[in-house]
Amino acid sequence: MTLRWALVASDGAARAGVLHTAHGAVETPVFMPVGTAGTVKAMTAEAVRSTGARLVLGNTYHLMLRPGAERVARLGGLHRFMDWRGPILTDSGGYQVMSLSELREMDEGGVTFRSHLDGTRHRLTPERSVEIQRLLGADIAMCLDECTPFPATEAAAAASMRLSMRWAARCRAAFVPRPGHGLFGIVQGGVYPELRAESVAALTAIGFEGYAIGGLAVGEGQAAMFAVLDGTVPLLPADRPRYLMGVGTPADLVGAVRRGVDMFDCVLPTRSGRTGRAYTRRGVLNLRNARHAEDPGPLDPACGCPACKNHSRAYLHHLFKAREMLGPMLLTWHNLQYYQDLMRGLRAAILAGRFEEAAAEAAAGWTAEPAEAAEAAA
Ligand SMILES: [Zn+2]
Repeated sequence: MTLRWALVASDGAARAGVLHTAHGAVETPVFMPVGTAGTVKAMTAEAVRSTGARLVLGNTYHLMLRPGAERVARLGGLHRFMDWRGPILTDSGGYQVMSLSELREMDEGGVTFRSHLDGTRHRLTPERSVEIQRLLGADIAMCLDECTPFPATEAAAAASMRLSMRWAARCRAAFVPRPGHGLFGIVQGGVYPELRAESVAALTAIGFEGYAIGGLAVGEGQAAMFAVLDGTVPLLPADRPRYLMGVGTPADLVGAVRRGVDMFDCVLPTRSGRTGRAYTRRGVLNLRNARHAEDPGPLDPACGCPACKNHSRAYLHHLFKAREMLGPMLLTWHNLQYYQDLMRGLRAAILAGRFEEAAAEAAAGWTAEPAEAAEAAA
């Protein structure tokens, strides 16, 4: 049997479920830490797992360029290569081709580009993207699509979305079914409701094990993103998992779970952690800020991660001021722990039929600390 998802409980549009994969079951809603180049930066696989994370994301673009998909396959696949025993979702490579590579040339067949690492020439087609994801051993593979830039005119968004739908059909044809593995289609269409609906219709006609909503969190703002979800999520099949790609802040996650989204990934907790920013139950803190310099208290008293359990804010501040590598490691750990705790709490609330109360409690907590600028000097 291919990958499947089962609904356990719902509360309003919010859903609690279980995703059954070749590498075990994953409770949803779920946040996936981003393991860009075969590692969740600054974390051992064991540390990632200790936060409660059960599903991680790998980036096709990075891994196809270095060390190469065929090499990873010869070494036993990505699970073994990075020592991750749970399921892995890989993206298609399309997004990073657009954002990182040089001299891109798009055509109906695919995209040709030069590596940002060494300038070598590569070509990514729907078929090659699916093949790379199979070589990596992904439990969940994503269709190659064109991430429509924002802003885009309706005509440009339509042309881009329709190309992605033709590629989705080619990805489906290229995907070899295996037990516990699945392929997700990606809804595009920018901020245009009719285009989003057309995209959903095209994808559901092809049929996928899950459906992602792409092209959001690219500068449109939270209100526009939620408006797209309001229009799109109800059109998706109720018996398949829904994945909002590249999102987002804790408030984004709560709002999207409220609208019926089950899966998320974002570099925010890991990337922010490396620069001294912490997501906590009491809001977002910048540990580089001078107000933490002599604070003996924990980062987040309710958190069980090593940064909060064993260290003071003053120590974390010192690590960042001294540019010690333990600072980014501890704050990455904390941020991932917070994201996992948040999702676990939302799932428990859905099961208890008190999602809105839990969402309101979380939002009230986020204002407890004074707001700190991202680049606060100390
Ligand atoms: Zn913590």
